[in-house]
Amino acid sequence: MKQIYLDYAATTYIDERVLKVMQPFLSRDFGNPSSIYNSGMNAKFAIDDARKSIAVSLNCKETEIIFTAGGTESVNLAIFGVVRKALLNAKRKPHIICSAIEHHAVLESFKALEAEGVETTCLPVNQQGFVDSKALQKAIKPNTVLVSIIYANNEIGTIQLIPEISRTLRKVNEERFKAKLNKIYFHTDACQALGALSVDVQKLGVDLLSFNGSKVYGPKQTGGLFVRFGTKLNPLIYGGGQENGFRSGTENVAGVVGLAKAISIANAEMTKENKRLRSLRDYFIQSLEKKIEDVTLTGASIKEDSEKYPKRLPNNINFIINGAEGEALLLYLDARGVEISTGSACASTSLDPSHVIKALGYNESQAKSAIRVSLGRKTKKADLAFLLKIIPGIVKELRRVSQLS
Ligand SMILES: *Cc1c(COP(=O)(O)O)cnc(C)c1O
Repeated sequence: MKQIYLDYAATTYIDERVLKVMQPFLSRDFGNPSSIYNSGMNAKFAIDDARKSIAVSLNCKETEIIFTAGGTESVNLAIFGVVRKALLNAKRKPHIICSAIEHHAVLESFKALEAEGVETTCLPVNQQGFVDSKALQKAIKPNTVLVSIIYANNEIGTIQLIPEISRTLRKVNEERFKAKLNKIYFHTDACQALGALSVDVQKLGVDLLSFNGSKVYGPKQTGGLFVRFGTKLNPLIYGGGQENGFRSGTENVAGVVGLAKAISIANAEMTKENKRLRSLRDYFIQSLEKKIEDVTLTGASIKEDSEKYPKRLPNNINFIINGAEGEALLLYLDARGVEISTGSACASTSLDPSHVIKALGYNESQAKSAIRVSLGRKTKKADLAFLLKIIPGIVKELRRVSQLS
């Protein structure tokens, strides 16, 4: 049976070209970058080069990048880092803001801090998953220290207007400066955006940006955090002082080298690949709507989405198929060799329906009927045509069964 992988938003394979540049650092060039003899220095130079290359992609300084072990760690470092630092000299417990459709890395960090007495606000989104700048403005309090908004959502692909949000925050910060209040930092989780959208931190206007390798054909457990010069945060991990003291521990040299290569490939191929994926995505969405009744595309509409004004990730498809349980559909498709998801891979061990779909205003049972199909470099039109061929029969059967119960 042919295997068709359609869950690229969960993770990607490592590109051959990435693997090739990593290999020497896994065996021959194994020196510790902190050692000052030759093999150590070589490892250090490799990390320096990787940092330089990523700084070009992000349009920032090399010293503004901290390498981490993945997106989750980057997000935790941004949130806990800023809050812990703020706690040091605040008279009052700080307040932090995020959106209702954040990845669990953000939501669970918020929950943990809330348990420690930190005030939190979760901003609502509209039916397409967009955060309202006015709602954000209203949520700000004198003790607010951080706003964290996901750049492109991992379940529904909605792309936020990050530059607009940062403009709003800049105005707020100008007033706060006059009132002698702290600056509110702006963090964005760009784990899904990297490789599909510009991550120019100057244009985005963010202070902190999280990214990872496992979504861009790089190695898992690699990633980084952009920290704008002057942003005050504490480390999460203490030790030998690597990464300027912000992330101790012997560097993952092969991982860092692979991450940089993966990002440079993704950027070089982005325009062409986005065009290809967008057309495959729209073909699938339009065909499915014709083939099955009572299906709803969740997230941003594809009508307003374009390369110039991106509103939805080019590789993201998320549908509510009324009356068919997503989990069951996933298993039926798996039996036919097709791998899709019901939403976030991280939440699949719990049977709770997606918080993202519910935040769009859908009910519990609709949220249970959501499926995500995410495309990638190896996706061909024929793969989608096969899925379109088998899905109506499975849906029919699932709807029949649900009618019986
Ligand atoms: C995958 C992902 C993460 C977590 O990244 P890991 O590298 O798996 O830790 C965080 N946020 C978003 C939006 C993601 O897609």
